[in-house]
Amino acid sequence: MENDSVTYVAPVTVDEVRALLASNPDARVFAGATDVLPQSKAGRPLPATLIDLKRIPRLTRISVEDGTWTIGAAASAVRVCADAALRSEYPGIVEAMALIGSDQIQSRATLGGNLCNASPAADTGPALRVNGARVVVASLSGERIIPVAELTEGPGRTSLGAGEFVVEFLLDRIGPRRSDAYLRFTPRTEMDIAVVGAGARVTLDESGRCSDAAVVLGAVAPTTVDVEGIAETLVGTTLDEDVLDRAAELSRMSCQPIDDKRGTKEFRVHIAGVLTKRALRTAAVRAGGKR
Ligand SMILES: Cc1cc2nc3c(=O)[nH]c(=O)nc-3n(C[C@H](O)[C@H](O)[C@H](O)COP(=O)(O)OP(=O)(O)OC[C@H]3O[C@@H](n4cnc5c(N)ncnc54)[C@H](O)[C@@H]3O)c2cc1C
Repeated sequence: MENDSVTYVAPVTVDEVRALLASNPDARVFAGATDVLPQSKAGRPLPATLIDLKRIPRLTRISVEDGTWTIGAAASAVRVCADAALRSEYPGIVEAMALIGSDQIQSRATLGGNLCNASPAADTGPALRVNGARVVVASLSGERIIPVAELTEGPGRTSLGAGEFVVEFLLDRIGPRRSDAYLRFTPRTEMDIAVVGAGARVTLDESGRCSDAAVVLGAVAPTTVDVEGIAETLVGTTLDEDVLDRAAELSRMSCQPIDDKRGTKEFRVHIAGVLTKRALRTAAVRAGGKR
């Protein structure tokens, strides 16, 4: 680390973090440091105090109780991907987490870090939002719960106030014939970030027709984009090719991408449509639909 006056602290309770943040205005929490350290090496100054969240049991556990999944903000990708029950209910969230970095990165990277780094290309953003995830935010004054869509405000910017940090993510247990999927396009097959990411959620009725659906895109705007009109277009249909084409068009119309070295605006818009169809198809098959 360039700043050799950084103090490292590793509390073991949420209350300790609350107190540390309240008494050190220049303190910052971190988890896997897979964003914090490369950013520091690239010249971003480190705070006077770095608070390690990985030793707090509440922040690293994954549990399911009373109809709700709770995923600790500092649970590693390895831990999330190893949870077979979570994978079976939310395969899209687990596949988003599984795409992050290499084996080394997977053993450190966390859901909280991925969201709070607030990259428009973060893989877990679309997967969590399409499933209606909620975020438990703590500070000295208590805890509040916000929709995951309200956590990020733009590139590198969250809605967290001074002294606030993310404790965990909440997801409802799913009902029958519902599933999800997350797909992304990258120029390289590994160790790259999304040019476009697409999370899809589909619920089918007993006859195999769509009864609910949503698509959320990543990397096509400053924050994730919940594609408008998806449910209205898909509900009541069997998700045939024409209907999926209409969903793809809705996704293309929702994009406000940038041009960069990974892809032009036009390419991103095109890929958003392609991934929308594929992710919806995969989610529908997982929900029990026909191939
Ligand atoms: C080689 C490499 C490959 C990568 N590949 C991908 C990829 O494919 N897809 C992708 O999306 N990302 C990728 N990343 C980025 C990074 O690994 C992920 O964003 C990861 O999930 C960050 O988690 P972390 O715990 O390491 O975050 P940290 O670096 O610890 O923290 C990131 C930011 O979040 C804040 N923060 C962390 N936890 C909390 C919390 N609980 N509450 C409030 N703020 C918090 C920190 O202050 C910091 O600003 C890659 C990084 C590297 C180095």
